[in-house]
Amino acid sequence: MSNNVLILPGDGIGPEIMAQATRVLNHVNEHFSLGLNFDEALVGGAAIDATGHPLPDETLEKAKNAKAILLGAVGGPQWDTLDMALRPEKGLLGIRKNLSLFANLRPAMLYPQLADASTLKPEVVSGLDIMIVRELTGGIYFGQPRGVEINSEGVREGFNTYRYSEPEIRRIAHVAFDMAQKRDKKLCSVDKANVLEVTVLWREIFEDVAKDYPDVELSHMYVDNAAMQLVRAPKQFDVVVTGNMFGDILSDAAAMLTGSIGMLPSASLNDKGQGMYEPCHGSAPDIAGENKANPLATILSVAMMLRYNFNQSAVAENIEQAVSDVLDQGLRTGDIFSEGSTQVTTTEMGDAVLKALTAILEK
Ligand code: NAD
Repeated sequence: MSNNVLILPGDGIGPEIMAQATRVLNHVNEHFSLGLNFDEALVGGAAIDATGHPLPDETLEKAKNAKAILLGAVGGPQWDTLDMALRPEKGLLGIRKNLSLFANLRPAMLYPQLADASTLKPEVVSGLDIMIVRELTGGIYFGQPRGVEINSEGVREGFNTYRYSEPEIRRIAHVAFDMAQKRDKKLCSVDKANVLEVTVLWREIFEDVAKDYPDVELSHMYVDNAAMQLVRAPKQFDVVVTGNMFGDILSDAAAMLTGSIGMLPSASLNDKGQGMYEPCHGSAPDIAGENKANPLATILSVAMMLRYNFNQSAVAENIEQAVSDVLDQGLRTGDIFSEGSTQVTTTEMGDAVLKALTAILEK
């Protein structure tokens, strides 16, 4: 398993952005003799079309044997009418669940070159650098019982269950405190402890784990306030940790502070040293096949993968620098385009990153 990387291009723009990200990955693999072995498999809609299932056994087996997985995106309107259990997203959820990828790291960082791309005032967002840690395999998205039934009054009723066990809360707390320790040592735990018992337990356990991290300043915030603070004064946050559903919503809001979801990578880790890396955005069916998608989030996911799974922070920094350099050159895909910059295609953006990376490595 130690050096296996599984590539899952997925659907929509997935194969287009993945093609650019793997060029970068292959380049650093060769240049630094990292010894990574690559394999590829089907997931999501592409897997449904080929095999009838969003997560074929062969893909799951390869995923279990991989040290790291690089995923494009899954989903698209052509699969939206399928039974819920067979939708493309089930491929993604299945990998998360089977590999127990419980810790989702989503950085929301604003490149100074893109300060104008945010809908918020530049002074509110410039220099923004937040890390959102979202619990990914528990909470209401997975809690049982769930379903839609006819209740005792003969009325249809839908229900889900929000539950977290103490070990689930402890392990995500440790990831979040460790992350805060490596950054500005400020951790904000987001819950709804005024209403939901499960988050009263969450808060209690965070207070307990905090005793192991005396150098980290822990604060708590209700999720409604956190949503407000994220758009009012986002720079007050360093590391934010929360459960699955709140994290899903808040991380998308944080993503938009940066102007484009096309710029944001993410990592999902388990406690066996495996990780899945993917851009925060979806499969963008509206621009799929048009060579318009921004590949930078996927390229930055490669950097996260090298940093968190392969302990190659210096190589990760080279890739991040190359991305910053192409932004300095004024190159922009449509999603981050602004007056005065040069609009480029997906492949042109990939070419530019490779060129910038080569220049950095030759210095
Ligand atoms: P989306 O992120 O795919 O697209 C939202 C908007 O952002 C679209 O206008 C799209 O063109 C644009 N966009 C997204 N990524 C871009 C990129 N790299 N470059 C340029 N523009 C980009 O979200 P959606 O439209 O809500 O969902 C589309 C499909 O993706 C759905 O089937 C959904 O279920 C799926 N989805 C998958 C994932 C995933 O695979 N992790 C995540 C979210 C949504």
